[in-house]
Amino acid sequence: MDLSLFFAGTAGSVPSARRGLPALLIRRGAERILIDCGEGTQRQLVRSVGLTDLTDVFLTHLHADHWLGLPGMLKSFELRDRERPLTVHGPPGTSALLERLRPVYGRPRYGLTIRDLEPGEVIRRGDLEIVPVSVRHRTTAFGYALAEDVRPGRFDAELATRLGVAPGPDFGRLQRGETVDGVAPEQVVGEPRRGRKVVVTGDTAPTDAVVVAAHRADVLVHEATFAHEDADRAAATGHSTARQAAQVAADAEVRMLALTHLSSRYAGREIRDEAREVFPATEVPRDFDTIEVPLPERGAPELVRWQPPQHPTRSAPAPLESPA
Ligand SMILES: [Zn+2]
Ligand SMILES: [Zn+2]
Repeated sequence: MDLSLFFAGTAGSVPSARRGLPALLIRRGAERILIDCGEGTQRQLVRSVGLTDLTDVFLTHLHADHWLGLPGMLKSFELRDRERPLTVHGPPGTSALLERLRPVYGRPRYGLTIRDLEPGEVIRRGDLEIVPVSVRHRTTAFGYALAEDVRPGRFDAELATRLGVAPGPDFGRLQRGETVDGVAPEQVVGEPRRGRKVVVTGDTAPTDAVVVAAHRADVLVHEATFAHEDADRAAATGHSTARQAAQVAADAEVRMLALTHLSSRYAGREIRDEAREVFPATEVPRDFDTIEVPLPERGAPELVRWQPPQHPTRSAPAPLESPA
């Protein structure tokens, strides 16, 4: 199953010409999970991968740069005759805030559920669990840890056949852990294989809570609002510097660190270079870049730069699926 992170907006606080406000689209099989929805997010999506039918939205916290795009997006889904239900999750206060905004988006026919989460509460989507983690910001703020279940070990059908087990129902019994004709499951089934883990911090000062939640994650998406020369400013505002985020990644032993929520004063390269001195496997995605996250045994996560369409055809509008 494919798993990728699409960076719809990588700025912090205020947008720049090149970076939109925070939004991260996680695509996994048929699931489309949006983490944060800054002002302009639907336009960012329409300009890139299309305004996809999201399955869940998770807000990290209620600072305006992280949710102001949501009421308009909820309204657009209604105008597009969306049918799939949608759940918006966030820290305590999310439902009260969105209820006050009802006059903007009304009562969508597609079925909108708004849920305030508690830290540590597990939200399950098939074999994926999503857990809010309390982080350290100026207001109640969550990061989110997304982790797939452990997968059964690989079944060696060839070896099982050689040991005298007939293909068919007996293979299933072995895979379920039963001994068949003197052949034990551990002879033909490998070690359980871990699933993938992705942790997204939202806004936070460096915190051990993230080190613990992101332990050996495939990808840690950490904010880096400032470079380290502005460490005082970062501390005063509940944010991290690139160097601090890199130290968190190193302590958590993640495979890849992706830095986002950059202040508009930085282009990105200086943030990346500073972090790489501490944690070499650091990337600073630009808007519309993607990180592909393969199953652990198939390789390391990889940043794929956005390629704008080279030769737009005559009528080249972005793929809006139905008129709004
Ligand atoms: Zn922010
Ligand atoms: Zn904030």
